[in-house]
Amino acid sequence: MAEHENLVSSTQIIIKDALDKLGFDEGMYELVKEPMRLLTVRIPVRMDDGTVKTFTGYRAQHNDAVGPTKGGVRFHPDVDEDEVKALSMWMTLKCGIVDLPYGGGKGGIVCDPRQMSIHEVERLSRGYVRAISQIVGPTKDIPAPDVFTNSQIMAWMMDEYSKMDEFNSPGFITGKPIVLGGSQGRDRSTALGVVIAIEEAAKRRGKMIKDSRVVIQGFGNAGSFLAKFLYDAGAKVIAISDAHGALHDPDGLDIDYLLDRRDSFGTVTNLFEDTISNKELFELDCDILVPAAISNQITEENAYDIKAEIVVEAANGPTTMEATKILTERGILLVPDVLASAGGVTVSYFEWVQNNQGYYWTEEEVNEKLREKLVKAFDNIYTLAETRQVDMRLAAYIVGIKRTAEAARYRGWA
Ligand code: NAD
Repeated sequence: MAEHENLVSSTQIIIKDALDKLGFDEGMYELVKEPMRLLTVRIPVRMDDGTVKTFTGYRAQHNDAVGPTKGGVRFHPDVDEDEVKALSMWMTLKCGIVDLPYGGGKGGIVCDPRQMSIHEVERLSRGYVRAISQIVGPTKDIPAPDVFTNSQIMAWMMDEYSKMDEFNSPGFITGKPIVLGGSQGRDRSTALGVVIAIEEAAKRRGKMIKDSRVVIQGFGNAGSFLAKFLYDAGAKVIAISDAHGALHDPDGLDIDYLLDRRDSFGTVTNLFEDTISNKELFELDCDILVPAAISNQITEENAYDIKAEIVVEAANGPTTMEATKILTERGILLVPDVLASAGGVTVSYFEWVQNNQGYYWTEEEVNEKLREKLVKAFDNIYTLAETRQVDMRLAAYIVGIKRTAEAARYRGWA
């Protein structure tokens, strides 16, 4: 099986189950089981040594029945067609869960920006936008940052699109620097959304964030801001990790110190000798576990070893279907990715709204609107899981696919 094939097939199984529970027929499943559009592009880039290297990129648009598609662009050596397809489907679910007028999209380029110069990354980013320009735009499909892409890359992409469009198009992309029409709070929005999900989950279990012991996999945009929020709220962050390994201190790590030392790719553990592996990280004794790095991390191999009472998925697709079943049976409260990590797309939507209206909100306004959406979404999903006796992931898929399915039915697509 190709590396990410299981992400698509397991998503399809749960979507089918969700549509059945909602009373939609096979025709609706046929419509939403795959992205409506998948573009593969080849991007020639002049490297600093004068040679030309050609990169492969993708853009998937899952379904635009509700409105334009929306989703990040990932720069990573492991990107492939299946991963981009699955990620675009999850974006549809996230938008449905927080009730945004979008469908799901996602893009990616097979590359390793850690091995490239900043100028090479700029040329690649601009080349990608030229290659996908016909299918994207502020009312068609709106990209954003994801793994190993950031606000600088969004700025280059917006500039390239604006040149082709012949006028300034801030609404083409979100996650931009504030001076180019970015939203206050966007850089921390995914992490703040995860904090809100943790608060709501903790409440349901009669716990508080203060003094709870937290383990976080990943110290990038999502993981590092999350660690900081929780640390400031009085939690003990007892372990964090990156692609090289993990740091563990049962008395709590000094997160401010680690934040000062991490690089722009979210790497910090390489500066320390005393590390543990990412595998050991998942087995640590803790109250709350947050995978915030990559997919397929909690599997049937390690699901029985997890000691946390609450698992909140900040990353996309960190837990397999089998592991979801095991964790649920073990009574662990699992907050699924499509709910827990929906803070990023929610504030991306706020950024796009602000760009369209040309009037900008304060960070407090943004955060308040984010909290309102996420608390409501958590409550809907938790209540549905309880009343229909389904796991939290299926409950999230039922809420997430409903709007797209209803919109598609009104349009006569299924
Ligand atoms: P990032 O590139 O900023 O950071 C990724 C982190 O994961 C880094 O610390 C990196 O070292 C670590 N990592 C990479 N490979 C690893 C491995 N094999 N084992 C352990 N750690 C590894 O990315 P990010 O934006 O923080 O995204 C992290 C996850 O959150 C992804 O699954 C992403 O799709 C998801 N997410 C991000 C956003 C967002 O707005 N940034 C929104 C929703 C979901």
